Amino acid sequence: MSATATRVLVLNSGSSSVKYQLLDMAAGTRLAVGLVERIGVGAPPACGGETSRHIHTPLAAGGEKRETEGAIADHEAALKAVAAELAADGLGLESPELAAIGHRVVHGGLKFTAPTVIDDAVLTEIERLVPVAPLHNPANITGIRTARALRPDLPQVAVFDTAFHTTMPEHAARYAIDVETADAHRIRRYGFHGTSHAYVSRKTAELLGKDPSEVNVIVLHLGNGASASAVAGGRCVDTSMGLTPLEGLVMGTRSGDIDPAVTFHLKRVAGMSTDEIDALLNKKSGLVGLCGDNDMREIRRRIDEGDERARLAFDIYIHRLKKYIGAYSAVLGKVDAVAFTAGVGENAAPVREAAVAGLAEMGLVVDASLNAVRSGEPRLISPDHSRVAVAVVPTDEELEIAQQTYALVNA
Ligand code: AMP
Repeated sequence: MSATATRVLVLNSGSSSVKYQLLDMAAGTRLAVGLVERIGVGAPPACGGETSRHIHTPLAAGGEKRETEGAIADHEAALKAVAAELAADGLGLESPELAAIGHRVVHGGLKFTAPTVIDDAVLTEIERLVPVAPLHNPANITGIRTARALRPDLPQVAVFDTAFHTTMPEHAARYAIDVETADAHRIRRYGFHGTSHAYVSRKTAELLGKDPSEVNVIVLHLGNGASASAVAGGRCVDTSMGLTPLEGLVMGTRSGDIDPAVTFHLKRVAGMSTDEIDALLNKKSGLVGLCGDNDMREIRRRIDEGDERARLAFDIYIHRLKKYIGAYSAVLGKVDAVAFTAGVGENAAPVREAAVAGLAEMGLVVDASLNAVRSGEPRLISPDHSRVAVAVVPTDEELEIAQQTYALVNA
């Protein structure tokens, strides 16, 4: 890597989208951000007028957001479109200033406990994990393959959503099922959103003026997907997502924790297929299943209008959240901070207020006026005397991926 190479391109390849950011690690700035969505959706009129869309914002040049519509057939075409937009601002992939590409990879299994430079063997290992992450790893792999083809000489790094959780002790990671069956099929709790939990727990320690090794933090990542983690001295000791992102908290469209026998019942009594049950629990449950909306803003608006279904959905969401705060307080023994993050956690003051309501005996109190402040900065929302700090810490998974990537290629 050249001494002047200080830029990192972060790629988050989903099944039909690619999100990206170009960062300059020396200057600590973001040069460009963008999103290609609806990849593979044909041109109108065959698809009812729907087509792919590319939104690109060249922050470095102080440039205007550029939006292009038009069919983008696959990830290769998407990445070429990204490269072309970056090149138009003099930030092209061929630039000697580009140090590496950092890829978000959802599932790293037990093998990948840290960010890893991608070679053929690493790619093969990520492919071997497809059976445990069929919805996510294939898109990540396509993104990696395409980026490697475009810049074969450039270091490419995989940063895994599961890596932060690989420190979980066996008693937290194992399900209480037959050990041979579990091991034969790699069934255990892996956890997800690890990049966010790592970033937010570290930032929370910073907010408290302490080293991460000195504090115990409960991180509540509440976005459309949602997960909680218990972080002791900077290491994850438990998290709410499991073999897949379905376990744990009530989410936008996922049920979270459920008696596994519900699935047998749906099969035997309701006559549903495995795929139908999968879709029900992953896509038509959670807040959307309970009240028809998965956007917390809309749910709060409906509650204000006296909508009972929205109220019940909110109450179920909060009840589950409280149970995890209680459980992780017990797991950690001593809690220094509870940190709220992601779309709901960062923006929905009523969720934060309700989640800790009645927990004063556990040292958890929220100051109403601090909680009402809207800000993009990490901040405390508990009063000074509070035994446990309650914090709002905006997550930044792209920055975390870029930092891990840059540190690895400079090591
Ligand atoms: P994420 O997955 O982190 O992007 O979070 C997306 C979710 O954040 C949306 O589904 C909304 O429910 C929620 N959200 C975003 N902004 C707000 C807001 N101002 N108030 C309440 N919820 C919000």
